[in-house]
Amino acid sequence: MQEFAGNALTTADVCRKLNVTPREVHRLVAEGYLDVVAISRFKHGVMPLFSEDQVVRVRKKIPSILRGWDREKGARWGKDAARERLRNWCALHRTRARKERFLQALADLPEKSGRLLRAAYYLYHLNHYAKAGESYLYDLKEQVLKAMSVSFTAADGLQIYFIPGRDRIRLCPDCRRRARKEKRTYLEFAEMTGGCAHCQRDEGYFSLYEFQIAYDDHHFCFHSPAQVAGKWLKGKKLPTRESSEREGGYPFGRPISAGEAVAVNLAEVIEELESFLASQGLAAKLISDPPISRTGQPAVSRR
Ligand SMILES: [Zn+2]
Ligand SMILES: [Zn+2]
Repeated sequence: MQEFAGNALTTADVCRKLNVTPREVHRLVAEGYLDVVAISRFKHGVMPLFSEDQVVRVRKKIPSILRGWDREKGARWGKDAARERLRNWCALHRTRARKERFLQALADLPEKSGRLLRAAYYLYHLNHYAKAGESYLYDLKEQVLKAMSVSFTAADGLQIYFIPGRDRIRLCPDCRRRARKEKRTYLEFAEMTGGCAHCQRDEGYFSLYEFQIAYDDHHFCFHSPAQVAGKWLKGKKLPTRESSEREGGYPFGRPISAGEAVAVNLAEVIEELESFLASQGLAAKLISDPPISRTGQPAVSRR
């Protein structure tokens, strides 16, 4: 880890400055173009930080780096790569058009519902990036869902359900030994036998809360584990449902595809959601201006 002076940039900043995706930032790191100069710790993971000076230097090389990646892919996949490029390009334009249409349609909704659905739209994209490996983004997801549960109701388009899940069983030493003898994983063994009286049992560990956000024909669905959302939903009387639906986003009733999701850039997603939290009077632990916590690293000044 080299010493650096100057501004620290987040992955989202780097995406915006270099016009690349988070996945491409990871590849730039893996191939030695970028160094992680510091980190910021979040509950759900560690966020890498980059030196602005280095990013500025890499910017000049980006066109040739991207061409190189394209060539490499072309050599490996031939016509498929060209077709995929065209498909991505089309998806990007389709997404921009759909996004504009969706955000415009919100203007006709009651103000509060419009605000809720706008946040849901960006939360869908945040979730997508979090699942793709930017796990520190789950902190922001949690704060947004919490803000929604505090300030919005069924009349605005928000329904929260409790979905009971099974217990987590942590096998005792005896049961673990038996599992190994039967050549089964601990999980398999726990599911098969249900453990014994000495095993530790976390009741309803896999329960979750489902956030259904719907208005007109727009519909979004998010999950939060019971151990997470339970802390701030405590005392709320919520309906129970037996089975959960998948997390997803359906503006105008149609699902957003994985290819489309990356077309909404990460910096915009973070900005939108942090300003949603600010509009609810909540101070977020900012991803756009994170605390820097590498030990032994000199303090870094940020704009
Ligand atoms: Zn046991
Ligand atoms: Zn749903």
